[in-house]
Amino acid sequence: MADEQQYDYDVLVIGAGPGGYVAAIRAAQLGLRTACAESRETLGGTCLNVGCIPSKAMLHASELYDHAANGAMAKLGIRTQVELDLETMHGQRRDAVKQLTGGIEFLFKKNKVTWLKGRAAFQDAHSVTVGDQRVTAKNIVIATGSSVTALPGVTIDQQVVVDSTGALELPRVPEHMVVIGGGVIGLELGSVWRRLGAKVTCVEFLDQILPGFDGDIRKESNKIFKKQGIEFKLSTKVTNVAVEGGKAVLTLEPAQGGEATTLEADCVLVSIGRRPNTDGLNLEAAGLATNQRGQVEIDHDFRTKVDGIWAIGDVVPGPMLAHKAEDEGIAAAENIAGQHGIVNHDVIPSVVYTWPEIAGVGLTEEVARERGEVKVGKFPMMANSRAKTNHEPDGFVKVIADAKTDRVLGVWCIATVGGTMIAQAAQAMEFGATSEDIAYTCHAHPTHSEAIKEAAMAVTGKPIHI
Ligand code: FAD
Ligand code: NAD
Repeated sequence: MADEQQYDYDVLVIGAGPGGYVAAIRAAQLGLRTACAESRETLGGTCLNVGCIPSKAMLHASELYDHAANGAMAKLGIRTQVELDLETMHGQRRDAVKQLTGGIEFLFKKNKVTWLKGRAAFQDAHSVTVGDQRVTAKNIVIATGSSVTALPGVTIDQQVVVDSTGALELPRVPEHMVVIGGGVIGLELGSVWRRLGAKVTCVEFLDQILPGFDGDIRKESNKIFKKQGIEFKLSTKVTNVAVEGGKAVLTLEPAQGGEATTLEADCVLVSIGRRPNTDGLNLEAAGLATNQRGQVEIDHDFRTKVDGIWAIGDVVPGPMLAHKAEDEGIAAAENIAGQHGIVNHDVIPSVVYTWPEIAGVGLTEEVARERGEVKVGKFPMMANSRAKTNHEPDGFVKVIADAKTDRVLGVWCIATVGGTMIAQAAQAMEFGATSEDIAYTCHAHPTHSEAIKEAAMAVTGKPIHI
């Protein structure tokens, strides 16, 4: 008891993103005296303020606009006269952010988590300054998240050359937007502005978009985005962006070297990845250093090499995803409280919220085949009665299973509600399901999810509807 009382808090979390705020709430729920330091004006981190939530608000609104404007609604017998009111669209986005960040403030009060407003920097392993305040804690959780990776030589002015935060706030629809990076942000935010009327060109260094996703999924989604009107320049790097008079001129070079070309745009989105936030944190004072990728290394229990210091979320190795950060926050808090917090990093779903959505969990077919013999079942959304009825024929579901044990190793899909569908695959994998288990699970009809059941049936060659 004496040990505990010598500190201001049992747990001090640095950063109130989905990793940090969730860790703080769980720690408080477990009876620990908890504070959370956050330098932003509002809680919720990247995800709620400038990431998941505002991007989904724009994706949802622009999707409805697109359906009305491109004739998809007319096909269903709904005639519309469509006019874009971009200010109102931005307003509903800001409103969603305000309500959700305010909700976290409410949850902090409800759970008695103290919000220390300001930037935190270590003084030693158990003390931190937050602004001009010095606080001590028995346990400190680093949950400082990540920021946009800059492209060397390219200045983000948030007018012509923007990052994801600037791309959420554009005051008018660009005529030509060039997206640098065919990853998740480029495709989601590129889709938003394409739907609202911009010509969009995506320049990607690799020979295919969406690195880390299953190969078939990458190829098929590229086809779908092209069909929707996004132009791709694959195997191409941007070596310079010159801005003059509100216009940008990009210099492009083939990734493997060769002759340079130029491309003009009135908006350039730099979305080439994110880097961990540790600047100004003074990690050295706590006896910590970052690895070569700028991340804080942890063990299986989220402990750093310094006793009493833990780390979670985008600042540690692994996919930069809000739900991964949240689960790590819960597990770290439980471990601090002496419980057994675990995250199964083999089963972290990943979703791109375009139309259709692109989702996956577990191994890609390429990685699964490197590890052993597999069986693969595929089912096209075209043959799914609900997708067909809704005029949503694009995409497919793919189930990858171990050839000997039939245990499901990965599930991937492109489907309008793929982000929702993938949850059942994640749960099945968490429970160690075989493809047969999924195939013999009764799925409601007519639902898009039946495509998962049929793809599982296809693993042993017995789907009904193809
Ligand atoms: P963050 O959310 O980055 O929060 C860290 C917080 O720490 C920040 O608020 C920061 O101000 C604060 N901080 C940093 N240093 C200090 C300090 N020294 N003192 C005090 N405070 C500090 N992920 C998904 O899963 N789904 C999505 O749909 C999705 N969409 C995204 C869209 C965009 C445009 C972007 C940019 C990201 C998106 N992500 C999405 C990724 C997701 O936002 C991150 O993975 C997630 O926010 C990481 O959570 P975190 O808690 O680790 O860090
Ligand atoms: P990303 O890593 O998903 O994609 C970056 C892309 O840029 C890659 O394809 C890479 O090959 C390419 N690239 C890198 N340097 C380049 C260059 N010089 N020229 C051309 N292309 C280049 O990164 P992101 O899209 O910026 O997203 C950052 C993070 O945010 C991701 O880790 C992602 O997980 C997260 N995020 C998730 C969601 C979601 O879950 N729906 C949405 C948005 C962001």
